[in-house]
Amino acid sequence: MVSLKHKLALGFGGLLAIIAVIGMLTITQVDQLGSAIDVILKQNYRSVAAAQEMKEALEKMNIDLLQSFSAEHLSSPTTIATDETRFRQALQTELGNITLPGEKEKADRIALLFDNYVKIIYAVSSDSMALEKRRDRYFMTALPLLSEIKTLAQEILDMNQANMNEANHAARRLAESAHNRILLAIASSAVLALIFSYQSRRWILKPVSRLIASANEIRNGNLDLVIETTSNDEIGQLSQAFNQMATKLRQVRRSDDQKLERTRKATQEVMNILPAPIAIFDPEGRVDFATQSAIRNFGIEPGASAAKLGYSWLPDLLRQAVETGGTVELSGNGFIQKFINSREYFFKPAATAIPHTPDGIGSSGVVLLLHDMTQAQEQKELKRGVVSTVSHQLRTPLTALRMAIHLLVEQRVGPLNDKQAELLQSALEESDRLAEILDDLLDLHRIESGKSRLNKTPQKPETLVKESIEPFIFDIREKGLKLVIDVPSELPEVQADLSLIRHVFANLLTNAIRFTPPGGTITVNAQAELAGICFSVEDSGCGIAPEHLKRIFDQFYRVPGQDEKSGIGLGLSIVREIVNIHGGTVGVESTISKGSVFHFTLPV
Ligand code: ADP
Repeated sequence: MVSLKHKLALGFGGLLAIIAVIGMLTITQVDQLGSAIDVILKQNYRSVAAAQEMKEALEKMNIDLLQSFSAEHLSSPTTIATDETRFRQALQTELGNITLPGEKEKADRIALLFDNYVKIIYAVSSDSMALEKRRDRYFMTALPLLSEIKTLAQEILDMNQANMNEANHAARRLAESAHNRILLAIASSAVLALIFSYQSRRWILKPVSRLIASANEIRNGNLDLVIETTSNDEIGQLSQAFNQMATKLRQVRRSDDQKLERTRKATQEVMNILPAPIAIFDPEGRVDFATQSAIRNFGIEPGASAAKLGYSWLPDLLRQAVETGGTVELSGNGFIQKFINSREYFFKPAATAIPHTPDGIGSSGVVLLLHDMTQAQEQKELKRGVVSTVSHQLRTPLTALRMAIHLLVEQRVGPLNDKQAELLQSALEESDRLAEILDDLLDLHRIESGKSRLNKTPQKPETLVKESIEPFIFDIREKGLKLVIDVPSELPEVQADLSLIRHVFANLLTNAIRFTPPGGTITVNAQAELAGICFSVEDSGCGIAPEHLKRIFDQFYRVPGQDEKSGIGLGLSIVREIVNIHGGTVGVESTISKGSVFHFTLPV
């Protein structure tokens, strides 16, 4: 097995070897060139210079000699001796720098001839001999010698010059071949480098790209993918590990699929026998699944689009569920009416987003549940009917009863003793309270059943508050409470039914007075908000414990353990109904022993 490490070492090692070879080759070639130039400069050039020097010294000696033949100019032996020394030094240099075949013979011959020549010219230059004789001797013996020595020196010069030319050509040829060799080495290195980079693509890049593509495929869910591996190197091993991982994932998915299928079937079975209308919508708003009741009674068929089912509230409800990621119910009165088999039914739709991930991020659909509220609605209606009928029926005899007690208390039918007067007074108070309770019940029934027609007119908040508080100012003062009114006069007008909103303030103020001890403060405030004008009645009374706050607006709910003489728990539910039919909302904040704030909004 050739591992990736070895392949890389092989490739990089090859490149390194090529670089080393080129380097060595270049160094050798440069060295060879250097020594070739050395030959030319050091050896041949020295001989050329020496031959030239010899020739010049000879010429000088000859000129000196010729001058010595003239009568007025006698030659000086010292000058000739200087030139002789110069010649001999040059000859010595030449003898010590013999490099070419035949050169030594020529130099030796020059040495021999020069010795003879020197002897002759010393004799010829001396004035002990007659001028005529000296001239003859010069022409006869010295001149031929001089000519031969010069020829030999010239030959040495020529042969060395020829060799220099030859060496020069050789160096040029060497440089050319070195140039070609280095070029060849570079070209072959480039080819090798290309081969290596191609190989490394094959060894590393291609398998890695294949791995990346396969990883992407697996990420997109293609677990059936198998990566083909031909090599056994690290990448080959990685590919095998990848294949093993895909196999494992396939197994896990298969078992997950089976579990999912089981759960799906079980859910389907359960859903099929469920009597409630339930439907599951996919993220595109298409019905994925629906119970028999949803299909039969609401026409919510699987595959149908929410927008095309004919329920105007449905698309909005699904969208809100997705946006909030929780459960939303239909706003407004919250019911849809449906006639099934000629009978009227009431359903309350609720949509719950199905979380996409276990942490609840995103949504993969919405469950729609239509709660059957028919029975509850019928019971409510029945209760309303009973309460209304009973209240109506009790109202007439109660009025007669109160009238009679009134006449008795006022002693129109005869005098009463103190005890009788006291008993009748308390009977009168109780019957008044009974009348108030019946009024409350009848009011509530009227508002709930929509019989109380709204007569909305624009009302200035400041006036509305002042007029609503007016009837209670006496009670507030009498109980020793402080009243603070904080309603800016520039607030915009609200749309309100004057008598009903007075009723709201009456209920809130009655409670505030009732539950605030003397010395306390009642503050009535109004301020502008996004939803309209927010009115609040705040007291510094006993406050309400948190566990009761949630139910405080329910009908007949009273905080346990309080004075039986107060109402029967209808006041706040009347408040809520009135505010609701105005399109507003109610709320309360309270702290035990510190007080409560009741507030409600009215649209402007
Ligand atoms: P009721 O007509 O019997 O007073 P309400 O519906 O007006 O009934 O009030 C319900 C209950 O809420 C009261 O019984 C009382 O316990 C509590 N409550 C209402 N207003 C206040 C308040 N301002 N401070 C403390 N408790 C209050």
